[in-house]
Amino acid sequence: MTQIALVTGGTRGIGKSISLALKNAGFLVAANYAGNDDAARKFSDETGIATFKWSVADPDACAQGIKEVEKELGQVDVLVNNAGITRDGFMHKMSVEGWRAVIETNLGSLFYMTQPVLEGMRSRGYGRVINISSINGQAGQMGQTNYSAAKAGVHGFTKSLAQEVARKGITVNTIAPGYINTDMVAAVPEKVLESIIGKIPVGRLGEADEIAEAVLYLSGPNSGFITGSCLSINGGQHMG
Ligand code: NDP
Repeated sequence: MTQIALVTGGTRGIGKSISLALKNAGFLVAANYAGNDDAARKFSDETGIATFKWSVADPDACAQGIKEVEKELGQVDVLVNNAGITRDGFMHKMSVEGWRAVIETNLGSLFYMTQPVLEGMRSRGYGRVINISSINGQAGQMGQTNYSAAKAGVHGFTKSLAQEVARKGITVNTIAPGYINTDMVAAVPEKVLESIIGKIPVGRLGEADEIAEAVLYLSGPNSGFITGSCLSINGGQHMG
């Protein structure tokens, strides 16, 4: 039977590559996004993948959005918690709004998105949850206390939930990308980016497709013995 995959932030950047890789592998894919309707329309026209607009930082919107996905496509077998934002700034200048937006979008969303799909996965005895973290949640990064804290939280969430649902045939894993060639990294000032690339042993940024390949593997039936793990995909920049 065709499996259903839901990818948050699935219309641009890394999420777009993940949505496409899953579709090409035979999944029926729902791609969620927040507000960029033009990008979502273009993505949907190009790929034929259904798009669904809601903010993953809003618990009620997540519950409602997932209901719509399930009504249109069916119950979710694979959830990829990919949506994320940055609001960079040094701690002493960071606003409460900038703190909360990043924590809620990158970490709160894991609870809001995963809880509504978990009961179905438990009752079917199968599920895959893949959470996208970041090298900066592992190593820390100045100017990103909010983002690093949220992404570090993703690792704790993954390991705890993995233990709770392991006997139910559900795996929960984290992928921690390094610097990947997307709009998010395009926003980094050129000088800073040059210095970042200088610290990547393979000498280049990663590509979104390289993350999507790993998500695809963790989404499949052959990865059932991998749970609570973190796969770092960062060109050797951080090996902790
Ligand atoms: P992009 O900025 O290119 O795309 C972000 C996607 O997330 C968009 O589809 C956006 O929707 C969606 N999104 C943002 N906020 C929300 C929200 N509140 N609700 C629903 N969707 C939302 O990001 P990347 O592809 O670069 O990053 C994807 C993930 O990978 C993020 O979690 C990021 O933290 C992580 N990551 C990225 C790295 C990189 O180098 N790029 C490195 C390490 C981790 P819309 O199009 O509507 O704005």
